[in-house]
Amino acid sequence: MGEITERRMMKAAVVDKFKQQLEIKEVPVPSLEYGEVLVKIKACGVCHTDLHAAHGDWPVKPKLPLIPGHEGVGIVKEIGEGVTSIKVGDRVGIPWLYSACGECEYCLTGRETLCPDQLNAGYSVDGGYAEYCKAPANYVVKIPEHLDFAEVSPIFCAGVTTYKALKVAEAKAGDWVAIYGIGGLGHVALQYAKAMGYNVIAVDIMEDKLELAKSLGADLTVNGLEVDPVQEIKEKVGGVQAAISVAVTKKAFEQAYGSVKRGGTLVVVGLPNDELPIPIFDTVLNGVTVKGSIVGTRKDLQESIEFAAQGKVRTNIEVQPLDKINDVFERMANGKINGRVVLTMA
Ligand code: NAD
Ligand code: ZN
Ligand code: ZN
Repeated sequence: MGEITERRMMKAAVVDKFKQQLEIKEVPVPSLEYGEVLVKIKACGVCHTDLHAAHGDWPVKPKLPLIPGHEGVGIVKEIGEGVTSIKVGDRVGIPWLYSACGECEYCLTGRETLCPDQLNAGYSVDGGYAEYCKAPANYVVKIPEHLDFAEVSPIFCAGVTTYKALKVAEAKAGDWVAIYGIGGLGHVALQYAKAMGYNVIAVDIMEDKLELAKSLGADLTVNGLEVDPVQEIKEKVGGVQAAISVAVTKKAFEQAYGSVKRGGTLVVVGLPNDELPIPIFDTVLNGVTVKGSIVGTRKDLQESIEFAAQGKVRTNIEVQPLDKINDVFERMANGKINGRVVLTMA
């Protein structure tokens, strides 16, 4: 089986150099090692993280050449030696948390996303912008039968990440929560927030995204280019118990911090390569908590998929063929995507 796999070729979108166009090319189908499964990718969402990866934006660089993608979902076509939890034909997805060590203090205490020895799909190992992707059987997460591949794909990062961010924000039902940045992450964040019983304020700088936010149930929308969101939020609701910043600009983080009320929490999720200066006096006197939050565990992912399975969260997707990735990245850089673009491999 291994030999056949090695000789087979597949189409993939590959980053060869930072800040250059991805190349669509034929590369070998990955061959399986112990405990791994081979997934025929049906759909893979385009996360802003993939654009950061292709640009080499962050202090820790991805491998090169790289096949990006950490929202890859599809059908298991082969299983490697030692695999017992997954069988051929299973519907699974391969998230950012590609694998972790399973033995460190973080893995042992349900905090596997903090494992120092983790691998990340579409960053330190090849991901889902390809016809096939392999992954350790123990870290793929199963998808219920009735969920459409393209629709569920963004849950594997945008969904689980924002669901987890809301969990660590520790607001309670009835509290006001602000989501800064109604993009791929933000448009599902606000739905999780509604489903968790919060009152939700959606902040963005583009009117079409705020329209989407309204249609998805936001209680209040604020255009950060037209008004000062901090003033608006303080005036209308007296500040929020939690603000989640999933925008890619420093300004949004400063405003998100400013809109938190006494005793509230700012959850930092978006990843502009920048700094967030925080006033010490206000943070102390107002008892404000600032938390970083990175994706979610396999359990968080199962829970976030369940919200989608029950119809409580719906992704607003636009399906595009893999070949269109460079156009999609350009539109993403210019804020011209409403919801999430999902690539299909057919
Ligand atoms: P996206 O491009 O789809 O969305 C970004 C949104 O922010 C857009 O709607 C844009 O209009 C909005 N925005 C820009 N400036 C703004 C401002 N000043 N105020 C309010 N909104 C503003 O990106 P995405 O895929 O949702 O990813 C967002 C960020 O989250 C990226 O930096 C990505 O790398 C990061 N991310 C982090 C994690 C994590 O685990 N922490 C996981 C996934 C993605
Ligand atoms: Zn992502
Ligand atoms: Zn570990």
